[in-house]
Amino acid sequence: MAETPKDEMPKAYEAGKVEQKWYKFWLDKGYFTPKIDPKKKPFVIIMPPPNVTGELHIGHALTATLEDIMVRWHRMMGEPTLWLPGVDHAGIATQVVVEKMLAGEGVDRHKLGREKTQARIRQWAESRRQMIARQHQRLGASCDWGRERYTLDEGPSRAVRTAFVRLYEKGLIYRGERIINWCPRCATALSDLETDHQDIQGNLYYVRYPLEGSKEFITVATTRPETILGDTAVAVNPKDKRYKGMVGKKVILPAVKRVIPIIADEAVDPEFGTGAVKITPAHDPVDFEVAQRNDLPLVSILNPDVTMNENAGPYAGLDRFECRQAILDDLEKEGLLVKIEPYGHSVGHCMRCQTIIEPIASQQWFISTKPLAGPAIKAVQAESISIIPERFTKVYLNWMENIRDWCISRQLWWGHRIPVWYCRDCGEVTVSVDEPKACGKCGSSKIEQDPDVLDTWFSSALWPHSTMGWPDDTGDLGYFYPTTVMETGYDILFFWVARMIMMGLADTGDIPFSTVYLHGLLRDEKGEKMSKVKGNVVDPLDTIAKYGTDALRFALTNDISPGNDIKLTPSRLEAGRNFANKLWNATRFVVRSIEAEDVALNIKRDGLAVEDRWILSRLSGTIANVTRLMDNFQFGEAQRQLHDFLWGEFCDWYIEFAKIRLSSKEEPSPLPVLVYALETSLRLLHPFMPFVTEELWQNLKKRLPAGWAKTESIMVAAYPAADDRAIDPEAERVMESIVEIIHAIRNARAEHKVESGRWIEARVYAGELTPAIKAYSPAIETLAKARPVSFLESRGEAPGENVLALVLKSSEVIIPMESMVDLEAERQRLEQEIARTGAEVARLEARLKDKAFLTKAPPAVVAKERDNLSGRKDRLERLKTQLARFKA
Ligand SMILES: [Zn+2]
Ligand SMILES: [Zn+2]
Repeated sequence: MAETPKDEMPKAYEAGKVEQKWYKFWLDKGYFTPKIDPKKKPFVIIMPPPNVTGELHIGHALTATLEDIMVRWHRMMGEPTLWLPGVDHAGIATQVVVEKMLAGEGVDRHKLGREKTQARIRQWAESRRQMIARQHQRLGASCDWGRERYTLDEGPSRAVRTAFVRLYEKGLIYRGERIINWCPRCATALSDLETDHQDIQGNLYYVRYPLEGSKEFITVATTRPETILGDTAVAVNPKDKRYKGMVGKKVILPAVKRVIPIIADEAVDPEFGTGAVKITPAHDPVDFEVAQRNDLPLVSILNPDVTMNENAGPYAGLDRFECRQAILDDLEKEGLLVKIEPYGHSVGHCMRCQTIIEPIASQQWFISTKPLAGPAIKAVQAESISIIPERFTKVYLNWMENIRDWCISRQLWWGHRIPVWYCRDCGEVTVSVDEPKACGKCGSSKIEQDPDVLDTWFSSALWPHSTMGWPDDTGDLGYFYPTTVMETGYDILFFWVARMIMMGLADTGDIPFSTVYLHGLLRDEKGEKMSKVKGNVVDPLDTIAKYGTDALRFALTNDISPGNDIKLTPSRLEAGRNFANKLWNATRFVVRSIEAEDVALNIKRDGLAVEDRWILSRLSGTIANVTRLMDNFQFGEAQRQLHDFLWGEFCDWYIEFAKIRLSSKEEPSPLPVLVYALETSLRLLHPFMPFVTEELWQNLKKRLPAGWAKTESIMVAAYPAADDRAIDPEAERVMESIVEIIHAIRNARAEHKVESGRWIEARVYAGELTPAIKAYSPAIETLAKARPVSFLESRGEAPGENVLALVLKSSEVIIPMESMVDLEAERQRLEQEIARTGAEVARLEARLKDKAFLTKAPPAVVAKERDNLSGRKDRLERLKTQLARFKA
């Protein structure tokens, strides 16, 4: 007999009691730290660093779950596996949060000063970092905490400065005046990707500009009349015949009376408004380019807080929207406002605070992205990097081919300060990785660092190599880079993935990863995006407390497929919890059987029962499918097949058959196969549900003889490999047929509401399978509550007999009605129902003959009643046939 356990398994699985114990065990054993083996190719995932801004949300839980599945799977396959965790300082997002906290205390960052504000943000961020790590641990994330990185750590910070300096030296970083998106609330420039475009119902204002020295006008249309103050030209398309004589003339700008020219430019769309457009180069990206081509001056009219500046003349000091109204009033008075049309257009909003952004011309730092995009396009075209799902390859290439320069400076205090120093003596710039003491050109010590910080995505773009120690030639960089999979949401393909590819190639000469796996967005039951505003957010920690981590992971992985959005519903969480309980009960049964039986646990291949051969065949088939699906990143389908195998074939059928054999002490004992199939399945499931599988595996291991489960933990045990020799189509055919027969009889019982204590008769016709199935009559009897079970020589029922005939895939089951129901009561029930249905038919027929109804009722109502009638008539016929059989 196997070793007698001292502690018995509790009746039910309590996730809360075991999860943290096992996490600590894994951590203490150092399983998360890979062993570098130069002979083996490592498997590496760099975790997308969560923003230090806040707690983990359910999206992070999804990311962590998918990555943990991959990482645990590869680790069990014996590959040196690194999952490197990290946290992002999230410049603008973090500063916005801390500014709000300061405002609550009545403090303004400008009053507090740069250094004290930074200290406050740092302190707050540090507390968050620890919380984020703890939350990841609750999710079971098996990442290497010893290698955790923070974007503001010295290593990654030096990588940022080094990358900046090298790109600057190659001429790929420049400072220039461009139109940028300005958020007046955040008081910083934003990249195009950080602005949300929202469709707004606004107005198109038609305004007359008087021609100089003439009584004529030219009419332009605008959605932002306050920008008239910044106009430096009116432009028409050179092919537009309506304005042929106008080009070269001058107009007088209303409100400020500046004289500006009428010019011709290809960019003007003759179909828009009147075909003549105002050019405001300091406040519109297209106009900025027109101005560059035509040598027009830039007139900025806004202060950083979007009040009007001195160039706005009489309107100086007004807020941008107050100014709009004031100008409209004045234009109206002067008779220059021709008309106002309602006009729907798209307006940029700050992604962080939803304030309407203002395009303004400003001196900023840019990366010239075209030269970096070239190699990044090639890497994907040549399939050195593959994007899953494939459809995003096109999206990526399209964006890269039309890429625009990237504005990387932000007027913030939180982040990596731009490594550029301006000389007050010679005016030159010094760009340096380390803080310079003097100007690189004239040697003056009167130098001052650029006050701005870099866009947070700049440091994120370096993440796969900066976390490995780049620019130093470290062991980690040599062994783990390029990494294997970059797993993230499709919503940050441009923000992050594309930029990592560009910067990875630029800095290291190598791709940062070979596969990009993009997951979809999480939605609620109704398919809506989760948001705090909607109040449909699912909190991962609350969910873990209620259902257990494995249930949450199960629900998140449930039918996930690359790139498609996922619904998270309470029923899926419950399904996950029920699955853990089902496995618990199954293991408890196996464990008790080991304790009760005196059986050697090694499987003897010859002399196995059909159901043993069947479950071993199905197990091997499931392993093969799961492995193939995981290879193709189809984690949802892999989990579904595992679940269906374990719940259905193993627990519901194999264990039920085994119970019969164990209680009748039948030879051979099913115990060796039970133990083998369970132990193997737990390993197969471990990457998906790590905690419950470890708990069950350990309970099993305690009762197994030495040599069965050699490792100390399931997480370092080998991942199961499919065994082709176990595949047994004959056994599968027989067992499927038996299962189908039992299933059909159970369904018939349920449909006819047979009391659970009542035995019913079943006659089975199974053709050539008869001898094999006949051997299972006792099991069919027990599991279907059918007695006697007899076998027919030929298909079909005896004529005139009142029976239920069930036609199945490879057999037929005949159940005499009288064995299920009381015939007299059934006859009466049928007669009553025929009377009721007949009355309904008569009522409907009368109604459909009623002329008043037919003329007054809408055609749809009449059609519906006709359908009703034909449905009832059909039912009446079927009831009568049934009754006729009873009478026979
Ligand atoms: Zn903002
Ligand atoms: Zn100088």
